[in-house]
Amino acid sequence: MVELKGVKKRFGDLEVLKGIDLRVDRGRIISIIGPSGSGKSTLLRSVNNLEVIDEGTILLDGVQVNRPDLKGLAFERHINHIRQNMGMVFQHFNLFPHLSTLENVTLAPRKLKGMNTSDARELGMDLLERVGLSDKAKAYPSALSGGQKQRVAIARALAMQPKVMLFDEATSALDPELVEEVNQVMKGLAEEHMTMLIVTHEMTFARDVSDWAMFMDGGVVVEENTPEHLFSHPDQERTQNFLRKHL
Ligand code: ATP
Ligand code: MG
Repeated sequence: MVELKGVKKRFGDLEVLKGIDLRVDRGRIISIIGPSGSGKSTLLRSVNNLEVIDEGTILLDGVQVNRPDLKGLAFERHINHIRQNMGMVFQHFNLFPHLSTLENVTLAPRKLKGMNTSDARELGMDLLERVGLSDKAKAYPSALSGGQKQRVAIARALAMQPKVMLFDEATSALDPELVEEVNQVMKGLAEEHMTMLIVTHEMTFARDVSDWAMFMDGGVVVEENTPEHLFSHPDQERTQNFLRKHL
């Protein structure tokens, strides 16, 4: 489903990803943990080509995402098509401030899939219901709490019916009391077997929700295993040290 092989990325002299291999099968959920600066966001951003990798391959359902052979408009067309199949949720909710909650959710299916207004509305209301916000359809982002904004961002990402969802610290900018409502939405997706790559600082959440856990440090995958194994008795000293500080 999503596969990375030998992915390398550098910023100037700094090699941030030093050859990452990763595979997420359909319906599986992988959590990526690791210290600040270890390359987690760069890895996630590389998956949908927000960062252009220097070496290696990234595949979505067998289709190569990074295409150094394609230039200009041909690449734009290719990557736009790929991105329609990936939903991404960042730390900072980047909702469109001038659009209502419902309009935020329905914009992409209307513009990119040509969905008519009434179908888009129905889809948007279903998604808002799913994230517990059907009563906020007409509200603008400025009138929502952080947790509500993040739930709208998730609904918006789901609106294109993506094959995979990428979450980068979706809850780490939220006040503690708002974290749980967003986690619940993500758990709901997990129960529906959405394929997900989750970068998180929340070890308990990662352990509860994922099928597989990876610990990254210094641009490499130091250790990966079932969450039960990785969080309870990690094999590597670097993982042990990290978890001792963060559990
Ligand atoms: P955090 O837990 O703090 O979010 P992270 O694991 O997500 O950290 P990245 O954001 O992937 O880490 O950054 C990895 C390294 O790459 C860091 O040293 C960072 O400074 C560097 N880096 C990231 N983006 C850029 C950029 N656009 N230009 C230069 N260096 C960058
Ligand atoms: Mg990050």
